[in-house]
This record gives sequence, C-alpha cells and structure tokens, in this order.
Amino acid sequence: MKKICLSLFAVCCIIGSSKAQQDAGMMDQIYRTSFEEGLAYDNLRYLTKDIGNRIAGSTKAEEAVIWSKGLMEAMPFDKVYLQDVEVPFWDRGKKEEAYIESSKTSLKVLALGGSVSTPKEGISAEVIEVEFLADLKKYGDAVRGKIVFVNKPWDESMVETGVAYGLNSSQRSRGPAEVAKLGGIAYLFRSLSSSPDDDYPHTGGTRYVEGIDSIPALAISAKSAQRLSEELKKNAHLKVFLKNESAWKGIVKTHNVIAEWKGSEKPEEIITIGGHIDSWDLGEGAHDNGTGTMGTLDAIRTLMRLGYKPKHTIRLVFYMNEENGVQGSLKYGEIAKSKGEQIVAAIESDAGGFSPRGFDIKSSAEALHWIQTQWKPLFEEKFWVSRFLQGSPGVDSGIWGQYFPNTVMFNFRPDPHRYFDIHHTEKDVFEAVDRRELQSGVAALASLLYLVDQQINQMPK
Ligand SMILES: [Zn+2]
Repeated sequence: MKKICLSLFAVCCIIGSSKAQQDAGMMDQIYRTSFEEGLAYDNLRYLTKDIGNRIAGSTKAEEAVIWSKGLMEAMPFDKVYLQDVEVPFWDRGKKEEAYIESSKTSLKVLALGGSVSTPKEGISAEVIEVEFLADLKKYGDAVRGKIVFVNKPWDESMVETGVAYGLNSSQRSRGPAEVAKLGGIAYLFRSLSSSPDDDYPHTGGTRYVEGIDSIPALAISAKSAQRLSEELKKNAHLKVFLKNESAWKGIVKTHNVIAEWKGSEKPEEIITIGGHIDSWDLGEGAHDNGTGTMGTLDAIRTLMRLGYKPKHTIRLVFYMNEENGVQGSLKYGEIAKSKGEQIVAAIESDAGGFSPRGFDIKSSAEALHWIQTQWKPLFEEKFWVSRFLQGSPGVDSGIWGQYFPNTVMFNFRPDPHRYFDIHHTEKDVFEAVDRRELQSGVAALASLLYLVDQQINQMPK
C-alpha cells in the first residue's frame, strides 16, 4: 500500500512539474510576443494624441468608445457590443483664476470634479488654514464667510503611495459639505501629489450633501499651497480671489464597450478583464487609464496571437464614468446580475502603466495561499512580478462585485512611485508612459489571464 502511495505521489509530482514547465513555457512566449509584437503602446498613442482626454459625457469620451469598439471588431472576438450607460456630465468651463489679493501672487488651482462655480465676479475672502477638517471645530463661527484651506502635506515616507493618497482623499470629497455647514464660502484643498515641488494642481472627485449649500471647491498645487501658507503666516487677514465656472450639465447617454471571446469548455463561466475608458478632462488620460484599457486589450490580443483557445469565456470590458460617477460599472453589474451570469474571476487595470509589480487579490485565504504557492513562483524570479497579496479589487470591479461576492478578483499593481506625481493632472500624457514597462505589464496581465483560465477550477474556494 505504502509503495502504491509513493508511486502515485511520484506520478503526481511529474504531472505537476510538467504542468508548471508548460505554464512557464507559455509565459516565456507571452512575454516575447508582448515585447516584440505588442500594440498597447501604439494604440495608447492614438487614444491620447488623436482623441485626448475624455471625461464621461463628453464627445471625446464617445469618440473613444466608438474607436475602441472598432479595435475590438478588428480582433477575432466572437461578439463586440456597446452597453448603454447614462452619466452626469460635468464641465469645467473657462480656466480657473486664483491669486492673493494684496500681492497679486498667482496660485495654481483647478476646480475639483463636481464643483459648482463661484459667482460670475468671483469670490474674495479671508482664509482659514487647517491640516484636517476636524481642526475647524475650534474656529466656531469664525469660519462663516471665509475660504477654508486644507493644507495637509503628502506623507513622503510611504512607499505604497496609494495608501498615502487614501489617507487624505476623504478630505477632498467631504470638504465642501463640511465647510458649507459651518458657513464657509469656498473650499481650497492641497492637491494629492507625491511630489512636494509640484506646481500642477491635481483634480479629483468631490461631493455635496443634500440640504447643505453647495460651495465652490478647488484643488491648489502643492507649491502654491506652500506659498499661500507662508503668506498667511505673515498676514493672517490676507484675502484670496477665486473664480471658476464649472457646472453639471445634465445627463448624457454613453456606453461601456464589451467584447467576448467564447470559452471552448465552459462558455457559461466568464472571466472579466478591463478598466475604465473615461478620464479627467486634463492632460491625455494616459496612465489613468489609457494604459489600463489598451493594456488589457493587448493582453487578450497576445493570447490570440499565440493561437490560444480559452476554456472559459473571456470578456473584455471598458467601463465608462469611473472618475466621476461609476455609472458604467453599476450598469455592468446590474445587467450581469439580472441575467444570472457566472463571473468566476475578474482582472482590473487602473493603477497606471509603470513597471508591473503584481496583483492585489480579493479571494478566500485558502485561494490566496494557493495563488501564492502555485503562481507567484512563475512570475517572481524571471519577470520581477512578486506582489500577490490580499487587497482591493479596483474601483470598477469593486462596484459590480457587490452583486458577485464569490468572484475571485485581481487588481493589477504596477510600481507606485511616480503615479501620484501625474495623477489627475495635465502631466498625464503619452510621453509619461514607457513602452517597455507597458508591454511588460501587458505580459503580466496576459500570463495571469492564461493561468486563471487554465486553473481557476482547481483553486480552493
Ligand atoms: Zn483611474
């Protein structure tokens, strides 16, 4: 009996190792194909240079939808279609103005996404500077009629810049309502930038609360924030002038873009991969999220080039409106749920196109351990992709994932050091992306997609 067990074990080891060798061989081919024949970088050039930035509801966003659909139709997908989505359209209007009244020192500002406008003639008022919104308590009625300036510097000690961003981003979204409640007339928020000498303001979503006045909300560059803070130390009563014209412009009909590559063994089981196609209305939306959409499309294209036949249906989704409303992922989830679809896994790319480092994973502890022992070694030594940790699934997957709590989710994680230097700014342009880094990410995504398709049924639940 012992002998049989031992030989059975030996056979399993041989099968196991030959399977691992087969997977390693496939990954070699994927990496070679991505570097030598990948088109993510060329497609990104068109998306950023010929189309440009594409806030949801704009004509540019719809142009990106139609163009992306054409890209998918040129590939051997079984089905390409648009999914109707209604989004609220926010328009920045003319360029914002801001300066210190006494010295006419100009301040670099941008309306935060969703901000209302100042009165036509602008606002001129004294400023209360705090690091945290909670600090406003001690000012009591003095906040009335003032501009509140939240000047919280970025925590540079954090290698994981996404955590540094997350630590302060709620002050961006909560700020206008909290300030308005206290009688403040405008909100000035130090940009979430990882570069302390940055003179570019970074936009991002903010929100209002029903029943509380909506006041203008603007981001100020890190450098201008320091300048204003220094001036306030010299003269606490100085006045700042602010003017912006942004406004909500109603509901616009637009789309998610979807393509399906039918599975040969379990076509009813779906693996979703993709990212958001919209961007903020600045720069070219290159890292956020041109690289995510063009990268996931190219990952599938790489497998197609290698003659791969998927077992499960692979569904590419470009979500609309991640930046200021998440209507695309909500709609995707609602429809998938109403059809009773089986989405067994999801892969999202929305953290930039820098050198790949790994994936954050939403799964059971047993599945995570299995991934760390079975798949991580295939990536780590040769391809420098070593982060396989429990983490957030990504904004869009997280939204539709509320309807699919058992779906295993992967969130692509490139190197985080430079992402928040350019995030949501004019600097997020094609030139900020490196082809080798991008195609290396494509190969990591394609490798993961291959492994998920091959082995998801063996993964512990
Ligand atoms: Zn994004």
